[in-house]
Amino acid sequence: MFAISKNKEYNNAYVTILRRKGVNFILEGLRKHTKDIDFKPLGITLLSILFLGTVTFIKYKPVYTVTVSGEALGYVNSKEELNKNLNDYINHREGTIASIEIANMPEYKLELVGRKQATQEKRILEKIEDSSVITYKTYAITVNGEKVNEVNTQIEAESIVSNLQSDLKEGVEFNLGIAEVLSTEQNGISQDSAFEVLNGMKLAKTQEYEAEQARLEQERIARERAARLEQSRRAAIAAAQVGSYGSGNIGGMNLSYPLRTSPLITSRFGEYGSRRYMHTGLDLATQMGTAIYPIASGTVIFAGWDGSYGNKVVVDHGNGVQSWYAHCNSINVGVGTEVTTDTCIAAVGSTGNSTGPHLHLEIRINGSAVNPQNYLY
Ligand SMILES: [Zn+2]
Repeated sequence: MFAISKNKEYNNAYVTILRRKGVNFILEGLRKHTKDIDFKPLGITLLSILFLGTVTFIKYKPVYTVTVSGEALGYVNSKEELNKNLNDYINHREGTIASIEIANMPEYKLELVGRKQATQEKRILEKIEDSSVITYKTYAITVNGEKVNEVNTQIEAESIVSNLQSDLKEGVEFNLGIAEVLSTEQNGISQDSAFEVLNGMKLAKTQEYEAEQARLEQERIARERAARLEQSRRAAIAAAQVGSYGSGNIGGMNLSYPLRTSPLITSRFGEYGSRRYMHTGLDLATQMGTAIYPIASGTVIFAGWDGSYGNKVVVDHGNGVQSWYAHCNSINVGVGTEVTTDTCIAAVGSTGNSTGPHLHLEIRINGSAVNPQNYLY
């Protein structure tokens, strides 16, 4: 448009155009120098551009229109600065960020706006932040496979686990692990809080374990006791079977059992046990005070205290056969008393060298102790 032709008519027409535009001061100059006007208008043109540029620069400023998802959010002075702020926003979140998904990144368009036009950096940043989806990565500590709580970093999680394992009692079922958790919520708690919770669980588990061990020990003791009782019961049945036969004979003399209860044989003839000397009788344990009857009729030849035998009764059955009844609680007969198998001669006791109520029965043939179980079945 500002290219000037050498053609005079054309130039006149151009002058007309300029006049119309009101640039009157140029006209005279143009009329006087129609023959050599080649360069002057060009300078004027450049001056005009400079002038317009200056006016533009004074009145306007370049800004970026920020558009997100087709919505114009406003202006920013610098897109670098907005990007930097966005990065700061991403980098200064608490916890470990797995990802930040910003639905739509802003688009920028350079524009000239009035110098007084405000920019909206803060509002635009907030809008972009609001539309972003943050995925946090936390580290859950698992106990026996179940997630208990989460901390923000793997280092914290590992530190907690190693602390808890350091003095973990063997046998306590407290298996620790670490699991990564991705969530849009920030669930990580502080290392101290997480440790406190887990340590509480560990103590509870330890107590539970110790209680269980104590219970098992009690059970074991109870089982042993039950086994001993069962053993005693079987022995009592065996003894009762002995008692139930209750008879026999020595050289044709009928014998009867000295007790009417089912005693427990606690020591047999000839056993040494803890005594270190030979046991000369048969120990029949039964309740204190149980009536004692002679194994056959005869005459009482001893009734009274005899050292380790305690209260003792000796019945002579003739033919060199005697029966001895020791550790009696009380004696009902005296020397010379004639007795039958129905005579209650004494009561079971624990006198002399005895650890509990029982009848020590001895059978002597010609002065020698024999095994009563050879004759009493
Ligand atoms: Zn004995």
